[in-house]
Amino acid sequence: MSECLFCRIGSGQIPAKVVLQDDELLAFEDVNPQAPVHVLVIPKRHMEGLNETKPGDKALLGHLFEAAIQVAEKKGIAESGYRVVANTGRNGGQSVFHLHLHVLGGRQMAWPPG
Ligand code: 5GP
Ligand code: ZN
Repeated sequence: MSECLFCRIGSGQIPAKVVLQDDELLAFEDVNPQAPVHVLVIPKRHMEGLNETKPGDKALLGHLFEAAIQVAEKKGIAESGYRVVANTGRNGGQSVFHLHLHVLGGRQMAWPPG
């Protein structure tokens, strides 16, 4: 059994509030939301982060962004606006080392981010 938290969520071994999914990816509610809408989009296949993606992953990366757009539409924040973030590595603030996109919205976002 994988020790990776998001692999286990992706395979259904750990429950999550699923927003959408298909064979390749899963979108689910963040357990500690930082905005009224805070959904994570993960590939079901393990990859640590953006730096570990390969040229052959281009279609999957596009698919993750398409899913982020669908999440925004489904959660009703497509028109008001939202932010898609992939925290990467130590300085990027990544805490779970399985690639994920954050989809945040439902409030005014600040810039620059902290
Ligand atoms: P990162 O800090 O790596 O960019 O984002 C990891 C995110 O995963 C955080 O926003 C955190 O709240 C979320 N998270 C951590 N553990 C769990 C969990 O067990 N379930 C869910 N749904 N989200 C989690
Ligand atoms: Zn994983």
